[in-house]
Amino acid sequence: MTTQNETDRRTRRREARAALARHLTQEADRAARNGTALALLHVEADGAADAESAHGPAAGRAVVSAIRSRLAKSLRSYDLVAHMGGATLAAVLSDVRGGPAVVSGLVERLAAAVSRPVRLQAGVVDPRTRVGVAIGRGRVAGPEMIRRAAVAVARADGTGAPAYHDPETDREMRLLRGFHDDLRQAIASGGIEVAFQPLFDPGADAPAGVEALARWSRDGRPVPPDVFVAHAEETGLIGALGEAVLRKACEAGAGWPDLSVAVNVSPIQLRDPGFPGMVESVLAETGFDPGRLEIELTEGVLASDPALVSDRLESLRSLGVRVALDDFGTGFSGLGYLRHFPFDRLKIDRSFVGDAGMASRAIIDAVLGMSRAMGFEVTAEGVETEAQKDYLVERGCDRLQGYLLGRPTSQEGITELLGQGRSPAP
Ligand code: C2E
Ligand code: CA
Ligand code: CA
Repeated sequence: MTTQNETDRRTRRREARAALARHLTQEADRAARNGTALALLHVEADGAADAESAHGPAAGRAVVSAIRSRLAKSLRSYDLVAHMGGATLAAVLSDVRGGPAVVSGLVERLAAAVSRPVRLQAGVVDPRTRVGVAIGRGRVAGPEMIRRAAVAVARADGTGAPAYHDPETDREMRLLRGFHDDLRQAIASGGIEVAFQPLFDPGADAPAGVEALARWSRDGRPVPPDVFVAHAEETGLIGALGEAVLRKACEAGAGWPDLSVAVNVSPIQLRDPGFPGMVESVLAETGFDPGRLEIELTEGVLASDPALVSDRLESLRSLGVRVALDDFGTGFSGLGYLRHFPFDRLKIDRSFVGDAGMASRAIIDAVLGMSRAMGFEVTAEGVETEAQKDYLVERGCDRLQGYLLGRPTSQEGITELLGQGRSPAP
């Protein structure tokens, strides 16, 4: 025999589930249309039952409602949190832009928020929350998302670490979390090293400048810069990473008379309105001459927001800093387009330099011709053979960079290189 109360409870639970499924199906459509992700968190507050047996039913309900309001506070306005009955809550993150690192970052933050102790009048309760997560990219039906999150929650251990629906995602997310924590830690504690690759003017034995390149080793193994830079861009660490590299580069540069120092800057850093101010303070703190600093930007920045980019470039140049367009030729920009941006230098991408084909040679010739006409200096990247070097020098390239002339090395390595063939300063 079931009482009227129990029947009502079951009906409410069924209705909550149906409403959640409808919402999820709708949001999965949107995610598929926008190429974004949808995440469902199934939250079980096991501690509510403890509170109930210790302090009565009101205490159990208070635990659930405390967790619900924490979820609501941490979500964006168009996300959803719902009480599914008993000690079960659901949270839906809609239209999440970004890769797995972004999604896991959001999920981790929520899982941490709902695992903190709950303070009741009767005392402090450990909510012992288990969080199961389903992530949908594309048109996953709502009931299927609910099923996946329920499968996941059965694997969660109550420590606050979320469990993901399939073991493969779960493993990836754990790896990603470790990677992210380690990178953040390395940035905060000065663990990002900087290597310097020498750049040469044709005919000179001593370098005319260097390019600063970020280096990071994790568990003793170097991580490729493309990999950790992309991760930092995705997760908001790039600002701190870029500043750390800039500071080390300027400190090193202050000890090398006459060398120009090029530093790579991500488009995301450039968008930050505080960027020129940050550069200005690092220059002031390190005493490095602004005229010897060159900021390298990739062609991609020109596509995003031309007015903003021009504005930032002007601010940088008003500090006396020079600006170079990196990886030139790999992006979209037509040559004429460059007139609108105040660059000092173009760097021809190494894919053209390394390719002896007619088309690449024609592009190199065109870039050099146009640069002369427009007053840009030109660096060729990725010079690996004498033949490439001879061709570039003959065509009037100002500056050469590549393994033939010098690999990235330590600060001391550059200092030694400067000492060679020159008498030490008196
Ligand atoms: P990039 O700016 O194009 O840097 C030049 C890359 O070419 C470096 O790779 C350098 O080691 C490599 N290289 C130099 N000469 C040769 C050559 O002759 N042959 C070949 N095959 N390669 C050569 P690395 O150090 O692995 O850096 C890769 C990319 O990571 C950089 O490409 C840059 O986009 C990014 N990166 C590195 N450090 C930073 C940083 O501090 N901030 C930002 N935003 N990006 C960075
Ligand atoms: Ca570069
Ligand atoms: Ca480059």
